[in-house]
Amino acid sequence: MKTIKHLAMAALACLAMTTPTRAAETAEVLELLDLTRPGLEKVAELHAAGNDSAAAVELLQYYRNRTGFDTGGVNPDKVKLSKTDRKWADDGMEHTFFVHKGYQPSYNYGEDINWQYWPVRDNELRWQLHRTKWWVPMGKVYRVTGDEKYAREWMLQYRDWIKKNPLINTKSKAERDANPGAAENMRFAWRPLEVADRLEHQIEQFALFLPSENFTPDFLIDFLANYDRHGRYLNTHLSKQGNHLLFEAQRMLYAGCYFPELKYASELRRSGIDVLNKEIKKQVFDDGVQFELDPGYHLATINIFTKALEMANANGYKGEFPDEYLQTIKKMIEAHYNYSFPDYTMPVFSDNKLHNKGGVLPNYRKWRRLYPQDKQIEWFATEGKSGQQPAYTSHALPVGGFYTLRNGWGDDATVMVFKAGPKGEWHNQFDNGTFELWRKGRNYFPDSGSFIYGGDDEVMEQRNWFRQTRVHNTLTLNNENLKTRESRLLKWEPGEQIDAVAVETPGYPGLTHRRTVWFVDDSFYVIADEAFGDATGDVAIHYNLLRSEPVEDLKKGAVSTDFDDNNNLTLRVFGADKAERVEGWASPAYREKYERPAYEFTTPKTGAAPVRFITVIYPTDDNKAASHKIEAKYKGQFATDGVAVDVKIDGKKYPLSLSF
Ligand code: MG
Repeated sequence: MKTIKHLAMAALACLAMTTPTRAAETAEVLELLDLTRPGLEKVAELHAAGNDSAAAVELLQYYRNRTGFDTGGVNPDKVKLSKTDRKWADDGMEHTFFVHKGYQPSYNYGEDINWQYWPVRDNELRWQLHRTKWWVPMGKVYRVTGDEKYAREWMLQYRDWIKKNPLINTKSKAERDANPGAAENMRFAWRPLEVADRLEHQIEQFALFLPSENFTPDFLIDFLANYDRHGRYLNTHLSKQGNHLLFEAQRMLYAGCYFPELKYASELRRSGIDVLNKEIKKQVFDDGVQFELDPGYHLATINIFTKALEMANANGYKGEFPDEYLQTIKKMIEAHYNYSFPDYTMPVFSDNKLHNKGGVLPNYRKWRRLYPQDKQIEWFATEGKSGQQPAYTSHALPVGGFYTLRNGWGDDATVMVFKAGPKGEWHNQFDNGTFELWRKGRNYFPDSGSFIYGGDDEVMEQRNWFRQTRVHNTLTLNNENLKTRESRLLKWEPGEQIDAVAVETPGYPGLTHRRTVWFVDDSFYVIADEAFGDATGDVAIHYNLLRSEPVEDLKKGAVSTDFDDNNNLTLRVFGADKAERVEGWASPAYREKYERPAYEFTTPKTGAAPVRFITVIYPTDDNKAASHKIEAKYKGQFATDGVAVDVKIDGKKYPLSLSF
């Protein structure tokens, strides 16, 4: 590679021929910068003397020498190139752009790139083109191979994008007339989420291509003008709410941290931090649960908040987030591990997907960097090699409505995560009262999941099957979805021998479901379901088992797993007039599903008298779960101030009660 000095001289020679328009553009960009910053003295001096061409050369020099900056993504000095990077980059060289994994193979956008090409009228395909996902891979290939053709092509495409996707005022007729097609194109190319995406990833592109001999002072001027335009536009056109707004805020912060030379940078940082601080209060309940009540979305939100914080820390803006922000993220992390299972999976409640350990563990490693003093995060990050596991076992998140009844944190633990909270947001399902139960590496009651998001009627029908109350481990009236999703905690009572929780859900007009769960002797669960009120109809409780071939004795309300590794459980339901096997599915990932055994236990409610069931879920360390003798009955009539049951297992009596 040529020396920097040599390059600078070549660039100077080139700039000597600068046109008046070019000179004006350069002057404008120099005015966007805070030239009083340390390191920019020479640039300031040359600019003040009216020698802007030489100032641009100095400015490029400054950026090449600048140290101590973190892109928040790819480290340009330690590039790892994947096969996918290589493919996206090489396809990109041919103008075959990777836009969306749902549309493969990728489309070609023409030798003279048509940024308005829309081969399938899916908005995503048009929006995501403007995320230019192949540019970072081109930069990576450039860094690894040193082949200048990638740098030349990136700059060509970068300038082509600027030229053909002008930012116009769509309300101005004059601007619309002067730019045919641009007004319609604005909806895609300048949608705030796409603008934000480019702000984040152009940082990486800048860092990757900066050493290229083709990265001239002239190009730097174009880059900074475009980047500044992006930042100002985004900050004045933010999405109103939800995850878009969070992403936009995080990315404004990225821009403000990486290009502090821009006068507007402090505005971007401030605005990003303000939005994140405001949203973290709005979207996170006092117990740390994110308001979608979706463990996957909760995790994604933690990551937006922490990415912003890490970016600020890495680039010298450590003090810009208040301590409260850090404390809230920590509470979110605590909520996450409290409702996670020992194998790092978590319930697939709401729209969550099954995240495996490989996907989750790296999060803890990142969190550990943010909270180096926290022994629990260290314990999870190191898989128990150092740090300390939480000093408690069972735990309540009473605002979000996640109650974990567990006997430990290790691989041999038994863990139930019981969900009964507020209405939640869009991703939340009609599932109040449901649970997942994990024991010794086996999830016995995986949630049905979500299968698919929004779409046309056919897609929505598939989505809605998985959202139904009846496909969750809870109670229904006439098999209908809950009409109201607001559960109320009656009692949370963790104890030495017995942990207990009771929750009430007035789910249907005239029918309230009260569910009490006891975790007895750190080994088995007893559930008292009481449905009371004026309503009549079929009251049923539902259980959706893992994929298996269970032993069924439905006349006795018994279903038992039949694994041969001494890790089984038996489910016994008392108080049902009828028990039957019903359709069951579970979806661990988008558009993936498998059939599994599911059961419905029904008793008609004919008058004012409550319908009451008792369920015993008894895990066993043998291969004959079905053989255990289990009995259970209510002690006394239904009462508003408490509940008591007598359970007998293999001759041993367990009197259980809870007062509210
Ligand atoms: Mg579900």
